[in-house]
Amino acid sequence: MNKKVDILVIGAGPAGIVCATTAKRYYPDKDILVIKNVENGCIPCGIPYMFSSLKNPQDNILSVDALVKNNIEVIVDEATKINREKKSVETIKGDEYGYEKLVLATGSLPVVPKIPGIGKKGVYPIIKEMDYLIRCIEEVKKAKNVLIIGGGFIGVEFADEISNIGGINVYLVEVLPHLLANSLDEECSLLVEEKLKNKGIGLFLNKACVEILGKERVEKVRFQDSEELEVDAIILGIGAVPNTKLAADAGLDMGKGKGIWVDEYMRTSDSDIFVVGDCAGKRDFYTRRDTAVMLASTATAEARVAGANLYQLKVVRENKGTIAIYSTYVDGLALGSAGLTEISAKREGFEIIVGNAEGADKHPKGLPGASKIKVKLIFSRQSGILMGGQACGSISAGEIINIIGMAIQQRVSMTELETLQMATHPYLTSAPTMYPIVLAAQDAYSKI
Ligand SMILES: Cc1cc2nc3c(=O)[nH]c(=O)nc-3n(C[C@H](O)[C@H](O)[C@H](O)COP(=O)(O)OP(=O)(O)OC[C@H]3O[C@@H](n4cnc5c(N)ncnc54)[C@H](O)[C@@H]3O)c2cc1C
Repeated sequence: MNKKVDILVIGAGPAGIVCATTAKRYYPDKDILVIKNVENGCIPCGIPYMFSSLKNPQDNILSVDALVKNNIEVIVDEATKINREKKSVETIKGDEYGYEKLVLATGSLPVVPKIPGIGKKGVYPIIKEMDYLIRCIEEVKKAKNVLIIGGGFIGVEFADEISNIGGINVYLVEVLPHLLANSLDEECSLLVEEKLKNKGIGLFLNKACVEILGKERVEKVRFQDSEELEVDAIILGIGAVPNTKLAADAGLDMGKGKGIWVDEYMRTSDSDIFVVGDCAGKRDFYTRRDTAVMLASTATAEARVAGANLYQLKVVRENKGTIAIYSTYVDGLALGSAGLTEISAKREGFEIIVGNAEGADKHPKGLPGASKIKVKLIFSRQSGILMGGQACGSISAGEIINIIGMAIQQRVSMTELETLQMATHPYLTSAPTMYPIVLAAQDAYSKI
């Protein structure tokens, strides 16, 4: 079949869906077609919660209702080739679709380390596809000993959730000295480690899994110090790589290899082809160096920029780069990180000053449900600009980190945070006299 559409989007993950719906709002008269190669996708951030928190894993389906409601056509097929001169895309089913504007939202693929035995049955990379994940959950539920490889936020979430199933020995191995070490400083990582240990999860830190042993199925793993551990299922949580093959084959500029090169408006080296989400190259907020941060929140922000600007530059954007803003939740403990950590700031060569504060998330702290919240802020010593922050403790950390993230993006100063005007209420927030962001800024100021 040959068909011509105005806007063709490849991929229906968070970036593809948001880009298509945004484009429909800005250009209501344009025909939009989305091609997705997975019949039933999953909400990626909800995948760990399919193992236990969600009674029915199918509830984590990534719906395309928003596309259908907006009169956007969706087909299940796989784009295999872009013909830039003809402005068309070929698919695995043998069809060809012409376009005026093409959006690549092909996402990322899980990293599968090249260690002996990695292809054995019982080893599961995280693929964002419902039928595959349901099979994986069923297998994990039958297992006695499950190992998660990778102690970043995804690995930690899997360990926590799988331990809630009950009757399974859960282990987590991380090559760095601490969990979440790329996004949190040691004091916050220690809180997570304590939580997981208290749940009976076996932690192997500063250790690498170098071999997977067994006949057809995984039976054991070997670590670099020759220690062995009996396991019957392994989940790989060691990151993802941008899915760039289609773009590379089409001769688009691939930048420095950490995603397809794009300008501020998500345009590639071909001005009729845009790229959004995990497959798009990212630049660091502070150094402008290429970085491999891949988050749904960043992906959807990029998708909104591209969707609005496909035909004309309607939404002016000063893309300051990605600040890497994350949050996670481990057994009642909420953690968030935005921008540089103390360690990463020092590694980059920034002269910094750090402020800490700890208090209750309600006031007075004797109110029912009040719990602890810790905030850490990292400022440039000389210029006093906020460069990073972390919040750990009660659920409010999830939104406190978004305030910190906004402040980083707006280059807010120590003085501005010290004199922050905020809404407070006994049941909803810390006391105005003890607001942790303000206290952390004051603590930093006192060290100058
Ligand atoms: C377990 C897990 C938990 C996560 N939790 C969080 C979180 O809490 N917060 C957060 O911000 N981020 C989280 N992330 C990261 C987040 O999932 C990604 O950043 C997000 O999915 C990126 O969206 P995307 O649309 O760019 O790519 P993807 O979600 O990868 O979607 C791309 C889609 O394109 C399809 N596709 C690829 N090639 C083709 C082709 N040739 N033809 C047709 N279709 C194609 C793919 O099959 C896929 O469906 C998590 C990731 C994982 C794996």
